[in-house]
Amino acid sequence: MTETKFTPRVFSGAQPSGNLHLGNYLGALRNWVRMQGSEFETIYCMVDLHAITVWQDPAELRRATRELCAGYIASGLDPEKSILINQSQVPEHAQLAWVFNCVARMGWMQRMTQFKDKAGKNAQNASLGLFAYPALMAADILVYHATHVPVGEDQKQHLELTRDIAIKFNHDFGVDFFPVTEPVIEGAATRVMSLRDGSKKMSKSDPSDASRINMTDDADTIAKKIRKAKTDPNALPSEANGLEERPEARNLVDIYAALSDQSVDQVLAQVGGKQFGEFKPMLADLAVAKLAPIATEMARLMNDQTEIDRILSRGSERAREITAPILRQTYDIIGMVPPVAL
Ligand code: ATP
Ligand code: MG
Repeated sequence: MTETKFTPRVFSGAQPSGNLHLGNYLGALRNWVRMQGSEFETIYCMVDLHAITVWQDPAELRRATRELCAGYIASGLDPEKSILINQSQVPEHAQLAWVFNCVARMGWMQRMTQFKDKAGKNAQNASLGLFAYPALMAADILVYHATHVPVGEDQKQHLELTRDIAIKFNHDFGVDFFPVTEPVIEGAATRVMSLRDGSKKMSKSDPSDASRINMTDDADTIAKKIRKAKTDPNALPSEANGLEERPEARNLVDIYAALSDQSVDQVLAQVGGKQFGEFKPMLADLAVAKLAPIATEMARLMNDQTEIDRILSRGSERAREITAPILRQTYDIIGMVPPVAL
């Protein structure tokens, strides 16, 4: 079979499942902005259909979707340079997801650690959507024939599943139709941990607000959360191997490195030997300097929701120029009768 040449195209998204936080920013959003305007066509999504895999209050979901859009733009995504969309406004995502539900195997899905983490002990009571989540995610990506997907480290397993789905579809139907997508997991903080527990990732859905720095937090809140962040009693090491077995210390150093665009080694060369009492205020100042302008811009954008809704409608029109033909071709490949004009 000849190798199909796919247009270099980036797709990624976040759920409107609560507050956008520092982990989302350092692990995902910042890289999305960097890939914008490069050799890639870039598409960024607010994945509301993923958010409803766990209960969402309807009014809050709508507000959070608009706020997420404001967060994207305030972080540097430009609705002219990138296509910004709300997932439910582009129906081809859900339509292709059904096809992929029939491609993915139960055994593959049962290995997904995110489902195990989110369903917890009561897996029997989790929604079917939460289990099927990674097949919808594969559809989000492949309905654009996206070649690159910038995400945080926690999404690596889902991207491997996306590759498996593309390969199986191509193999089952003897085509070279879906690209085998490359994950892009880059930066000093690809897995930002909870400020309260160095063994858990920072998450929107963590019930403890003190566990994360929200992109909407003001300067005082940011400083207070960093001051209260869990640490150990030792001074900071001068070299990276001194952070082994010290997850909380490692996390704060990773965050500092990512926010200051330095490597962990460069940071430790400056702060090695300091106590947390001295390092935490440095980190708080840096975080406020980088994040406060984004929070201010988000608040400004949220004052004009009509403009946000307009940006999303325009985004979905542009998106469907890509997704509608790809879905049509998929249906054709799998043997569905095409509609005819009457
Ligand atoms: P939820 O808890 O509802 O799943 P979340 O905080 O995990 O929310 P998502 O919307 O699921 O956020 O993820 C959006 C993007 O942010 C993904 O690319 C994901 O990999 C990345 N991301 C999420 N949490 C972190 C983190 N702690 N560190 C780095 N990247 C992260
Ligand atoms: Mg998540």
